[in-house]
Amino acid sequence: MPVPVIGIDLGTTNSVVAVYDGSSFRVIEDPINGKLTPSVVSFHPSSEVLIGKPARERRLIDAANTIFSIKRLIGLPYKSPILRQARQRYPFKLVEGPADSILVRARTRSFTLPEISALVLGRLRKIAENELGETCTDAVVTVPANFNDLQRTATRDAARIAGLNVLRIINEPTAAALAYGYRSDKRERIAVYDLGGGTFDISVLDLAGEVFQVAATAGDPYLGGDDVDNMIAERMGKFFLERFRIDLSVQPDTYERLRVASEWLKCELTEREKALVYADDIARGDRGAPLDLEFELERQELEKMAFPLIGRSFDKCEEAMRIAGMRPAQVQRVILVGGSTRAPQVRKMVAEYFDQEPMTDLDPDLVVAHGAALQGHALVMARTKKRAAKERLAPASVSDAYSTEPLGYEQQPRYRPGDLDWVLTEDAAQEPITKVAARPAGVPTEPVPQPP
Ligand code: AMP
Repeated sequence: MPVPVIGIDLGTTNSVVAVYDGSSFRVIEDPINGKLTPSVVSFHPSSEVLIGKPARERRLIDAANTIFSIKRLIGLPYKSPILRQARQRYPFKLVEGPADSILVRARTRSFTLPEISALVLGRLRKIAENELGETCTDAVVTVPANFNDLQRTATRDAARIAGLNVLRIINEPTAAALAYGYRSDKRERIAVYDLGGGTFDISVLDLAGEVFQVAATAGDPYLGGDDVDNMIAERMGKFFLERFRIDLSVQPDTYERLRVASEWLKCELTEREKALVYADDIARGDRGAPLDLEFELERQELEKMAFPLIGRSFDKCEEAMRIAGMRPAQVQRVILVGGSTRAPQVRKMVAEYFDQEPMTDLDPDLVVAHGAALQGHALVMARTKKRAAKERLAPASVSDAYSTEPLGYEQQPRYRPGDLDWVLTEDAAQEPITKVAARPAGVPTEPVPQPP
């Protein structure tokens, strides 16, 4: 049995690791984090490094040393306007490193952004190894379609620091399309609408026979479910202020509690029409008496609040449609990715915009890792096939045919369509994340073999 290649969706909010063994897809569950490992790292005073849920909980009490949403910044120069915005928003310190790079300060140390991401990747690698009982070094890692070369290289660096050999970096929308088993004889255009916790991406993919290409991408690095949580938290804070004349927003740790309660409430409202949240001892009143918060919200009210926010994602869709030179209704399929697309309001608005029901059969949180795992399996199969062919052609050099030389980015063999069932090519946008990119010149194409 060849050693499996793990598929990793390294997300802004959550990360997922999965494998595909040729017949079934399996998400590897972390005993602490479950299927979704929050992409959060916290540096504890005891010098322990917490990753995932335990780290996310530290945001409530130690926001300055708890690092999250690094994916928004990885590979960017310190002078980037996105970094300037982030410095105002993030409770942890971001400082200038050598050669215009960004460093994170936590406790008394500084870390590069790939070093932070490597801690999350290292955790995913470890749980995969524990579960599969073998060393897992080969991986396929996904990135947003509009990541430029520097962002891709920084992601690769993070993987290398985590002891992973990245066989291939693939675009998230392509991974999602792979998970849906996309292959088409005719020319087809599909849209991947990806609304996560902190970022929104829309991609239009062209499928033509054996080739996948990103026709257009657009996105907003500051649009996602977190914004909805903040809106609810503000509403809760206002409610508390009116009731008790205490402003909860001035204490970062208390505000964090409101935010957590808001996210819970939001997710409940995906399932039901009305929900109630209760947070005890959220503040102290006269003579130190503990004050509790009880807050009820209806789905209809939430949808009214969130409407302009979700509406912003369709401005980006318009941008992508303009680049792709088409109308929304001309898209043949729409795939939903990202936890926030579970919200009924999002699904309804997407259906209205594209004039069709989006595909929702696969879990929007896992679909990208699913595609990455499929890709990993395809690479293993291609490698096995190549070695077998080499062995047949040159029986005298069997050891060479079984060489352990990794299939690195630069060393990937150029498969001809006839070599495999089909070949998949990706265009990766070169522009910074805030700009729209469509098939920029000089973009490297990546031939990606499909599972047999
Ligand atoms: P992701 O970045 O794809 O991991 O998505 C995370 C976002 O999805 C967070 O803002 C979550 O609150 C949101 N989310 C997860 N589950 C649900 C749900 N059932 N309803 C609404 N939003 C959800």
